[in-house]
Amino acid sequence: MKRRDLIKYLSVAPIAGAAVGTGMPFVAEAAAPAKAKRDVIKELGLRTFINAAGTYTTMTASLMHEEVVDTINESAKHFVMINDVQDKVGEKIAAICHAESAMVTAGCWSALVLGTAGVLTRMDRKKVALLPDVSSFDKNEVIVQKSHNVGYVHALTNTGIKPVVVETAEELERAIGPKTAMMYFLNAVAPEGKIQHQEFVAIAKKHNIPTLIDIAADIPPVENLWKYTDMGFDLTCISGGKAIRGPQSAGLLIGKKDLIAAARLSAPPSGGNIGRGMKVNKEEILGMYVALDKYVNQDHEKEQREWDAQVATITNAVKKVDGVTTAVTVPPIANHTPKITVSWDQTKVKATPRAIMKALQDGNPSIETMGGRDGIDITVFMLKPGEEKIVAKRLQEELAKAAAV
Ligand SMILES: *Cc1c(COP(=O)(O)O)cnc(C)c1O
Repeated sequence: MKRRDLIKYLSVAPIAGAAVGTGMPFVAEAAAPAKAKRDVIKELGLRTFINAAGTYTTMTASLMHEEVVDTINESAKHFVMINDVQDKVGEKIAAICHAESAMVTAGCWSALVLGTAGVLTRMDRKKVALLPDVSSFDKNEVIVQKSHNVGYVHALTNTGIKPVVVETAEELERAIGPKTAMMYFLNAVAPEGKIQHQEFVAIAKKHNIPTLIDIAADIPPVENLWKYTDMGFDLTCISGGKAIRGPQSAGLLIGKKDLIAAARLSAPPSGGNIGRGMKVNKEEILGMYVALDKYVNQDHEKEQREWDAQVATITNAVKKVDGVTTAVTVPPIANHTPKITVSWDQTKVKATPRAIMKALQDGNPSIETMGGRDGIDITVFMLKPGEEKIVAKRLQEELAKAAAV
C-alpha cells in the first residue's frame, strides 16, 4: 500500500479493536516496504541453468510443480507423527499403484535397500538389528541376471546379501535353493537379459521366492506405475524425483503388505538399523504423494504434444545451419521421452560437439546438454515452457558462428 493510500485507508477504516488496540504495529507493518526476498542461490554465486539434458541427479534432476512446493511449505508449519504420515500416504499411493501397500523412501536407491532388508528380516527385529551381517540368516542370497548385475546392485549388497548371477532360465532354476532370499530384476536392461518379466515371475512363484523390480526412471508411461505389480512382482522401486517430479530425495517402494511393513522396520523413525540414515520427513512424503497424484491425473497426451512442439522448435532452428542434421529418438525404456541428437559435418561447422556444449554452458543463460562424442543430445522434458526457444536460438547461434569461421 502506498503512503497516500494508507492515509486514505486509515481515515475511512472503522476504529475497531485490532488496529487501534495495538495502534502502531498495524500502521508500521502496513507502511513498511516489502522486505526483499533472500536469494541464496545468487548470494552464493551458484550457477543456474536451463536443463536440456534430462533428469540427472548431478543436475538436481527435476523441478517440482507448484502444488508440490506448496505442500512442502504448508506441511513444514505443523508437527505430525511421521508414522501416521507414512500410513496415510502409503494407503493412497498403494491404491494408485494397484498395490497392497506402499511407502515413501529416500529415493529409488533407498527403496532397493529397504525392500531387500524387509525381505531378509520380515518382522524379526533381531534380524533387523543384525543387518548388514546376514551370515547367520538361512536365506541371504539374491539372484540377479548377468546383464542386470550393474551398479544398482550395490543397493542390494548394502544389506549384506550375496548376489548370485545367472544367465538363462535353466541356470536360474538350478541356482534357486534354500539360501535364496529374493530375485532382482532391473527393468531398464530387460531386453538385454535372457529371461523376460513373465517367465522370471513365473519361476519365482513356482519356488515361492519374492521378486523385486527396479523401474526407477521408467515412468513414463504412467501405466508402469502399476504394470509390474499387476504382473506379479512383490516389490517395485521407483524414483520420485525423475519424471514424476516429486522431491528429488524421495522415492517409492510399493508391493506386498507384509514386505512393506517389514521394510519400515529398517527405516526411520526406527533406529539401530541400516536405513536410519535414509530419512524422509513429512514434507517429502506429502510432497511425493501430491506429485504422484498430479502426475497420474495429468493429460499425458497433451504433454506429449508439448514435447513434440518443443522438439520441432529446436530441430527447425538448428537445421538452418548448413551441414547440421538432427535425429529424434525415444529411448524404449528409461527416460521414455523425445531426445534430439544434433550432429554436423565438421568440415562445414568447424567445432567439436564438446566445444559447442561448453559454449552453451558458458553462455547467458547457461544451458546443460548431454552427449558430446558424435553430437549433442537434447532432452526436452525438463525444459520450462518457452525455454525451447532459448535453446533453439543459442544452439543455432553457436553452430552458425562455427560455420562462419
Ligand atoms: C535413478 C536410478 C536409481 C536411483 O534412484 P534415486 O531415486 O536417485 O535414488 C536406481 N535405479 C535406476 C535404474 C535408476 O535409473
